[in-house]
Amino acid sequence: MTDCLFCKIVARQIPAEIVLETGRALAFRDINPQAPTHVLVVPKAHHENAAALAAADDGLADDLLKACHAVAVQEGVAEPGYRVVLNTGPGAGQTVFHVHAHVLGGRSLTWPPG
Ligand code: 5GP
Repeated sequence: MTDCLFCKIVARQIPAEIVLETGRALAFRDINPQAPTHVLVVPKAHHENAAALAAADDGLADDLLKACHAVAVQEGVAEPGYRVVLNTGPGAGQTVFHVHAHVLGGRSLTWPPG
């Protein structure tokens, strides 16, 4: 999608600090980190949100989750634990409409997230 920020990062048209790339996913650091580790994991293909992704290609959702765990291991936050967040829709705080998983770790994470 030509006007999508994360499609442009996937295409290397906009710079980002990429930490992991798989065949179908790309992981890069959030520009406004909310934790010592805050990485966004996106499918290379454009899907608006988690619901659209699961409806279109549930194998890709599986790939995305596996990439999230690989990022957590690589970042050294798999233990004691990390959080994966998929804000889905404006009411949940989604601001970029290319599905992305936030991988957060490296500090104590409270619940509920607010
Ligand atoms: P959302 O609110 O849609 O769940 O998350 C969007 C995330 O994208 C935010 O955490 C925001 O900081 C991040 N973000 C917005 N613009 C950019 C950018 O140009 N580069 C990077 N790396 N992250 C961005």
